[in-house]
Parts: sequence; C-alpha cells; structure tokens
Amino acid sequence: SVWCSSAGRMSSVTVCVRFRPLSHKERKANGDKDEREEDVIFSFDRVFYEDAEQSDVYNFLAVPIVADAINGINGTIITYGQTGAGKTYSVEGPSILHCNKQKTGLVQRVVDELFQSLRSSESMAMWSVKLSMVEIYLEKVRDLLDLSKDNLQIKESKTQGIYISGATEVSIMNSSDALECLSEGIANRAVGETLQQGSTSDERLRGGKIILVDLAGSEKVEKTGAEGRVLDEAKTINKSLSALGNVINALTATGKPNHVPYRDSKLTRILQDALVGVKKISRVSELLGWQFKSGIAVLLFPQCLKCT
Ligand code: ADP
Ligand code: MG
Repeated sequence: SVWCSSAGRMSSVTVCVRFRPLSHKERKANGDKDEREEDVIFSFDRVFYEDAEQSDVYNFLAVPIVADAINGINGTIITYGQTGAGKTYSVEGPSILHCNKQKTGLVQRVVDELFQSLRSSESMAMWSVKLSMVEIYLEKVRDLLDLSKDNLQIKESKTQGIYISGATEVSIMNSSDALECLSEGIANRAVGETLQQGSTSDERLRGGKIILVDLAGSEKVEKTGAEGRVLDEAKTINKSLSALGNVINALTATGKPNHVPYRDSKLTRILQDALVGVKKISRVSELLGWQFKSGIAVLLFPQCLKCT
C-alpha cells in the first residue's frame, strides 16, 4: 500500500495530493482486495483526504499564488492524475456555472479573490485583468475563446517571457465576466482536458500571471485499447506528460546541469517559465534568500484511491 504523509510546506514548489471520495462501485471493488503489499511512503506538502473541502484545497494551494500575482509574481497550478481521479472537479467544481458555493472549484475562487484583493488595495485605480483560455490538442494550441485560431504559436520576449502569440485576451472587470468567458471556453473544448487557463492581472509596471492547468489523464495508452483519432489523442497526451516528467527530472537532477528539454512539447514550452522555479528550488536557493520569479503548485491525484 501507498502511504502519503503531510510534511508541511517545504519550498516554493508546493506538491499536494488529493483523494476524491470513492464511488459506490469502487467501494465495493476495493472491499474485495487483499491489501498486504509492500509499503511505499511519499511525503507531500499536504494531503487532502476524501473529506477535504474545495475551500481547503484553495486556501492552501491557491491563496499564496493569488497574493503573489497581485505583487507581480507569476504562479501556476497544475493538476495531474488519471482520468476520473478528480482533476476537473478540483479546478472547475461540479460545473463552472451551476454549483453551490461550497463546491465551487479553484478557478472561480481564484477569480473572486483576485477581484476582491484588487478592489480593496490602495492602488485600485491602476489594474486590469485579462483572461485567455487555450487547449493543447494533438500538439496544437487552440484558442478556446476564438476557434478560428487553431494553431497558436508559442513565443518568447524579454518583457513577457514565454507567451502564446495571438491568444485572445478578454478584459474582465468582475467575476461574472470571467465566468461567462470561462464557460464559453469550456464548451469549446475538444477533449475536455489538457486545458490551460491563464488569467493575468497587470498594474502598469507589475504584471502577474496565473496559469491553471487541467491536464489530460495520465493513464497509459496500452491500457485504453484506443484506435484511430482517439489513439492519436492518447499518444500526444502521453508525449506531453512524459515531456513534463523529463523536464522535471532534468531540473531536479543533481550534478552538472543538463539539457532541459522544454521544447519537446507544447505543454512544457508554455510552462517553461513556471518550471524554471523547480530548478531554483533544487539548489539551496531558499537558504540563500533568492527571489522566486514564479510559484508553482502541483495537485496530484493518486491512481490508487484506497491509499491512506
Ligand atoms: P478527472 O478530471 O480527473 O478526469 P473528474 O474531476 O471529472 O476527474 O472526476 C470524476 C468524477 O468524480 C466526477 O463525477 C466528479 O464529480 C467526481 N469527483 C471528483 N472529485 C470529487 C470530490 N472531491 N468530491 C466529490 N466528487 C468528486
Ligand atoms: Mg477532467
């Protein structure tokens, strides 16, 4: 069995795990299993068990990222796990529009908090919030807010860092603007996954970007028995996810710095600026008091839902 322990916030890269409640079917199936296997222990900044509320996840994972964004520090939240493990529920809630407050997902909470903070800050005259929403589908970046843009290019500039060139940026003034925009984007998704949502707040000189990533399922192609277009989808999804793994491995490897293959997939290229933070962490940078340009939070959804 796998044991997960909460070790407290360990660095600017926050890694948490969330177990969703078992469905009736799963509860039955699990009851029949013999559990005695080897124990494996993983430590996380925090473990959210079945009874965790959306607000618990939001408060721990996203509140620091929203606060940073207002101060011009970029932040990224990535969800990772198998299909059905609870990624979209965490990001969007049961549905982006019709849901009770308690079940509201991360996106809506981030947007609400962002506007609340901006409005209550002294410098309220000088801010603007823009929202973009893209999907990486078959290694092409599609604009979910304008379907005619189906192959956006990723570029890099001195001032903006990595950005998606030509992606629609909708100026939003309040939470309901944002929700309207998000629900339009959600309706335009091809696979309902590998979605990436970016929300930017900039005050003249300080621009902070928040990226929320709802990754595609991490299951292996062989297991799905996919064919044709579905197989192509699965292959490219696997490619992005393995590229993400390779980048993280390269960044966290000890010894002499090796090549970091950001360019192996659209996903890693878009997240390059965010992932650079991982490298800084692996050094003793925190002790040296280095400034982080970005914060990153990863919410993992375990394959084995029975873990305790
Ligand atoms: P994924 O996006 O990882 O494929 P979903 O978020 O769609 O998975 O979740 C699969 C199912 O489990 C959905 O029916 C969802 O409503 C439910 N679910 C996921 N997480 C929770 C949770 N924390 N509490 C209650 N139901 C959940
Ligand atoms: Mg999903």
